[in-house]
Amino acid sequence: MDCIFCAIVAGAAPAAVVYEDDDTLAFMDINPVSQGHVLVVTKEHYRNLYDVDPDAAAAVMRTTVHVARAVRAALQPDGMNLFQSNERAAFQSVFHFHVHIIPRWIGDELRLPPRVQRVEFSVLRGIAARIREHLY
Ligand SMILES: [Zn+2]
Repeated sequence: MDCIFCAIVAGAAPAAVVYEDDDTLAFMDINPVSQGHVLVVTKEHYRNLYDVDPDAAAAVMRTTVHVARAVRAALQPDGMNLFQSNERAAFQSVFHFHVHIIPRWIGDELRLPPRVQRVEFSVLRGIAARIREHLY
């Protein structure tokens, strides 16, 4: 499987999963730009905004609202960005439709394109568990 997000959806690649339903999966970004950086993806493969089924995109946004509120409750960031990229010129690096939930803190100095961190799965799973506690 050459798409890492399809591999994660299929359970063939590891991820710290936060939320799952019939149409979407939310998991911790393996290279977070801030603590609590979550990706929300369609379960079906679409390259990006240009070919995604509008109903699948709507499902991603529904999940994004749901998970973003849990991220806020779990981590108490000062703010939050949603980020969605289409093609390389716009910083898309995984070509499977997804939305970034990026918690922000005053003074965090996040810039575009963001500098990613290296974080162990054990850390990501711990943060995922904290967020899941606030899903309802
Ligand atoms: Zn894919």
